[in-house]
Amino acid sequence: MKAAVVHDFTKSLNLEDRPKPQPGAGEVLVKVETAGLCHTDIHAAHGDWPVKPTPPFVPGHEGVGIVEQVGPGVTAPQVGDRVAMPWLGSACGTCEFCVDGWETLCEKQVNTGYSIDGSYAEYAVANAAYVALVPDAVDPLDAAVLTCAGVTTYKAVKLSGARPSQLVAVFGIGGLGHLALQYAKISGATVVAVDISDEKLELARELGADHAVNALTEDPIAAIQALGGAHSAISVAVAPKAFEQAFSSLRRGGTLVFVALPADNFVSLPIFETVLRGIKILGSIVGTRKDLAEVYAIHAQGRTRVIRETRKLDEVNECFEEVEKGQVKARIVFDLR
Ligand code: NAD
Ligand code: ZN
Ligand code: ZN
Repeated sequence: MKAAVVHDFTKSLNLEDRPKPQPGAGEVLVKVETAGLCHTDIHAAHGDWPVKPTPPFVPGHEGVGIVEQVGPGVTAPQVGDRVAMPWLGSACGTCEFCVDGWETLCEKQVNTGYSIDGSYAEYAVANAAYVALVPDAVDPLDAAVLTCAGVTTYKAVKLSGARPSQLVAVFGIGGLGHLALQYAKISGATVVAVDISDEKLELARELGADHAVNALTEDPIAAIQALGGAHSAISVAVAPKAFEQAFSSLRRGGTLVFVALPADNFVSLPIFETVLRGIKILGSIVGTRKDLAEVYAIHAQGRTRVIRETRKLDEVNECFEEVEKGQVKARIVFDLR
């Protein structure tokens, strides 16, 4: 089978022929139809984070496809079902986090396209209990994007506590941000979108953002404070500076949600203002299987729009560059059909 493989953090991905994997006990073999390109895949391929994957590995955690074979002991899903293979490839199921609705915090979790091979390939093997059933009403190209960008921002908006009376600021209108703003709108909040590209801000307005601020030409802190300050700010921009601006755009008692994971791992935030202004700072990592099912259901009702362009897996290295340069409208999805 064809696969895009990371061999070295300093080199491009290699497109190569690999043996088709075999599903073990509790696993399924999925024939990949679509695979979204999340900025996390770029961080993975570059070894950007403190905990690094071990090359060679196949990135991709927005994979959708059809179950072709099931391993011993698997009763669901069944051959022929369309499933998605999210970042949370599996968790232990028994630790205090897993049993308390926080499987995303499990210390024994396995991550698709990071600690196990992902969906940048014609076939992938996945844990049967952690793949998500994709409803027929959700297009497989949309489902790919919802599998990480969707569920991650849906969860972040949930944690932000966004409500109809509130102002929510979304910093970074990329793959994640274009969905974050839609979930914030669905929560009933007024939304301000911040990016450094006018095209992305135009898209934000099309998708329902009430205000749009270009952080290159306007001070987002002043602009958001002029609106009364944000009740919550969600940082999905791959730049520490955006986190700092998001912090300063909050009103008293506000909540800052950290979502993006820039290679430059540190921000500088003031203690005094955090304490005196009663600011809450939260980290938010993807979402649970339940969150993902909710994301698909909302999309099946026609309440979210996924903005994506389809490409061939052969173009993976060019696609990485385009995402890094901010040239992609929202999300690239590889179509392997
Ligand atoms: P993306 O490249 O599609 O989007 C990033 C956006 O940020 C772009 O629109 C870019 O123009 C904008 N941006 C860059 N600098 C900015 C600045 N200074 N101010 C405002 N906007 C700025 O990336 P993505 O796929 O949406 O991923 C975003 C980040 O989220 C990545 O770091 C990724 O690893 C991370 N991520 C986290 C989770 C999680 O569970 N916490 C899940 C998925 C992705
Ligand atoms: Zn992702
Ligand atoms: Zn666990």
